[in-house]
Amino acid sequence: MRKIYIDGSWIESTDAQALPVLDPSTGKGIDEVPLCSDGNVDAAVRAAGTALKSWSITPVVERCALVERAADLLVEAYGEEGEPTELKELIQREVGKRLPEADIEVIESSDMLRHFANRTPELLQEQDVAVDAELWPTKEVAISRGPVGVVAAIKAWNYPLEIPLWTIGAALSTGNTVVFKPSEHSSLIGLYIADLFERAGLPPGVLNVITGDGSTGSLLVAHPGVDFVSFTGSVRTGTDIAVSASGRLAHADLELGGNDAALVLADADLDLAANGLLWGAVCNSGQVCVGVKRAYVEEAVADDLIAAVSEKMATLRPEVDFGPLISSQQRDAFNSFIEDAVSKGAKVAAQAPLAESGFYVQPCVLVDVPDDARVLTEECFGPALPIIRVPSVEEAISSANATKYGLGASVWSSDRARARQVAARLKCGMAWINDVNVAFAQVPWASTRGSGGGVELGDAGILAYTQIRSICDEAGSEKTRAWWYPY
Ligand code: NDP
Repeated sequence: MRKIYIDGSWIESTDAQALPVLDPSTGKGIDEVPLCSDGNVDAAVRAAGTALKSWSITPVVERCALVERAADLLVEAYGEEGEPTELKELIQREVGKRLPEADIEVIESSDMLRHFANRTPELLQEQDVAVDAELWPTKEVAISRGPVGVVAAIKAWNYPLEIPLWTIGAALSTGNTVVFKPSEHSSLIGLYIADLFERAGLPPGVLNVITGDGSTGSLLVAHPGVDFVSFTGSVRTGTDIAVSASGRLAHADLELGGNDAALVLADADLDLAANGLLWGAVCNSGQVCVGVKRAYVEEAVADDLIAAVSEKMATLRPEVDFGPLISSQQRDAFNSFIEDAVSKGAKVAAQAPLAESGFYVQPCVLVDVPDDARVLTEECFGPALPIIRVPSVEEAISSANATKYGLGASVWSSDRARARQVAARLKCGMAWINDVNVAFAQVPWASTRGSGGGVELGDAGILAYTQIRSICDEAGSEKTRAWWYPY
C-alpha cells in the first residue's frame, strides 16, 4: 500500500483500510492507497497549521520561487509533445486519458504554476487608498493581503494534475498551507503532486497529501483547523460541503458541474463547428465540466451540421481517440442517460464503436431529443452530443439559459461581433467564440448560479486565497478627535 505525505514525511497509514486504484481501461487493480480517516486527517491539518506560522511570513518572492521550481520540474516531466513520459503514462493509466490529453494537462499545469509565481508578488503589494481628504485630512489608509490559513483542497479526478494545481499553486504562493485530498480515482497523481513539491524544496507541513474517498473528504471539511475549503466536483457534494463549512463559518470556494450549451448560428463555418462540437463533447470521454453538453443549432444549417458531426463521430476509435469512463458507476450512469433520452423519443444519429474491455461507452450524437430528457436537464458526464434545432438565435439563447447551471458556453458564428453580443447574454462564467474548453492561466475560470460561483486562475483566482486587511494610520498630532468625547 502506498504511503501518504504529512509534515514533509512519507508515512505508512497502518490503521487505514486499503483503497484499490483501478485502471479504467481494464477495470483491474493497479495499486492500493490508504483510506485515511480521523487520525491521518487530524495529523495533516495539524501539520498544515503548524507550518502556516512560518510559511505565511516567508517572503512572497521565496514562496513563489519554490512554486516556479515546481513549474520547471513539470516541464522536465513533460518532455516533448507526444512523448509518453512517466507522468503522462501515469495520467493515462490512472484516469484513462489519451496521450494528447495528458500532454495538454501537463504543459498547462506548468504554465499555471508559473503564472501564480509571476503574478503573486505584485498582487500582494500593499496599496494606498485615498480617502476623502476633506472629511479625513490626517488619515492614511492602505490595504494589504495575507493568506486565509489552512486550505483543504478537495478535487475531482477529471483533470487530476491541473485542477489541484490551480488551487495548490495559488494557495502556496499567497502564503497558505494546504491539505490535499485527491479523488479516490486519481490518488496516485495526487501523491505525485506531493513528490513534485517535495523535490521543489517546499518546507515540511506546507503541503500535505492524504488519500481516501468521500468519507475522508468529509472529515477534512469538518475539521476545525481548516480555514478554507477549495472544492471542485459535483453539485451534490458541493452542496454538502457548503453546508458543512458554513456551519462553522469556514469559507468554501465551489467549482461545480455544468451543462454547457453550444450555440451554432446560421452563419457559422460548419466544418469548424462540426470539428469543435465533436471534440468539445468527446474529449476526455466527455468527462469535462465545460464539455459541450447541448448544441442548439439554427434550423437553416441543422441538417448539414448533424450530417457532418455524425460522419465524424462514427469514425472515432476507442483507445485511440477516446478513452474509458472513470468507473463502472459512471459508465452505467452514462448509459442510463442515453436510455432515458431514447425512451422519450430521441434518436441516436451516430455512434462510435465500443472497446471490449474496461469502462468504455459509445460516444454518440442524439437528435430529436425532448426537453425533459435528462441528457438536457442534468449534467451528463460522458460523451453524448444532443443536437437541438432552434428557429432563431433568440430561441438558442433562451434555451441555453434555461438551466440551473452557469459554467461555460460556446458560440459558433462567422460574425465575431454578433457572436460577442450573443455571448454577453449567456448566463455563464465563461463563453468561447468559435472554440470551446480553453483555460488560460491569466484568465479567471469563473462560474455562476448552480455551478458554484467560485473562481480559479487569473488574478481573481490568486486573490481568492487571500484575506484582505485595511490598515488605517493617523498622521496628525492632535490628542483627541472631533468625534470623541465629550459630545
Ligand atoms: P464528486 O463531487 O463526486 O467528487 C469530487 C471530490 O469530492 C472528490 O475528491 C471526492 O472524493 C470528494 N468527495 C466526495 N464526497 C465527499 C464528501 N461528502 N465530502 C467531501 N468530499 C467528498 O465529483 P466527481 O469526482 O464525480 O467529479 C465530477 C464533477 O466535477 C462533475 O460534476 C464536473 O462537472 C465537476 N467539475 C467541475 C469543474 C469546474 O471547474 N467547475 C472542473 C472539473 C470537474 P472521491 O472521488 O474519493 O469520492
